[in-house]
Amino acid sequence: MKRFLGVLGLSLLLFGCNAQSAATEEEKEGVVVATTGQIADAIKEISGDHLTVSALMGPGVDPHLYKATQSDLTKLDKAEVIFYNGLHLEGQMLDIFEQMAKDKTVLAVGEKLDEQHLLASDNDAMLHDPHIWFNIELWKQVVAAISDTLAEEYPAYKADFETNEAAYLKKLEELQTYAKDRGSEIPEDQRILVTAHDAFNYFGASQGFDVRGLQGLSTDSEYGVKDVQEMVDFLVENNIKAIFVESSVSDKAMNAVIEGAKQKGHNIVIGGELFSDAMGAEGTTEGTYIGMYQHNIDTIVDALK
Ligand SMILES: [Zn+2]
Repeated sequence: MKRFLGVLGLSLLLFGCNAQSAATEEEKEGVVVATTGQIADAIKEISGDHLTVSALMGPGVDPHLYKATQSDLTKLDKAEVIFYNGLHLEGQMLDIFEQMAKDKTVLAVGEKLDEQHLLASDNDAMLHDPHIWFNIELWKQVVAAISDTLAEEYPAYKADFETNEAAYLKKLEELQTYAKDRGSEIPEDQRILVTAHDAFNYFGASQGFDVRGLQGLSTDSEYGVKDVQEMVDFLVENNIKAIFVESSVSDKAMNAVIEGAKQKGHNIVIGGELFSDAMGAEGTTEGTYIGMYQHNIDTIVDALK
């Protein structure tokens, strides 16, 4: 019953947006909306100038907790195609996607991937880890899936999409080579990445780093005194000199860890800020997927080597 009312409420809300937008603005063609910056960036690379692409979640936004605003609903309503990550990344928006899928193409890019390549969620054995963008090989498959969907929706631009896709996949291959080369600057037993939440398991698995997060997979989960204590012991035992904060997660937990280690006579520094679930500001290098990934690997290697 509660769910039914939720859907009904959403329909009323959407109906409201429809009436308003029709009265004030011309319908624009080729409008595509993504939830995260990573997905929007891939769509922009593929579509070139043909489509108008926007992301709902900007820099510093946490997708696990994100709730759609009124203006998001208007954007989603006007979009011809919607892309989202799926695998429960946008945990608060599932009803909206379900509703939107009734009259337009709505693609969960993570759900196009072969399950055998997905990592399990640490919290729930039934779920997969949604942070797929940190495995470049998987992200290439996402790029291909986005390109296929756009070609179906906009067949007139198919040839351009394919050309752009091929060029972008080549850049992603170069990124993978760059990341491997940089990672190899650190001795294997020192490739330990400690961050605030478990966003980097795909990064670790694909780049050969042991990854530890203080919070669970979603920033929803709380950390306790015991988690902090265990993390402190781990850092002291492994003589780790740097841990990393994330642009979309509070630093509070990491500061507690640094303080705890200090009390045991072990000095740890913040190695820098990593982009985990959100990318950097639009118009900057870190505001692109490739720039964000390079920033992360450079920050990690420079602090640990
Ligand atoms: Zn996350």
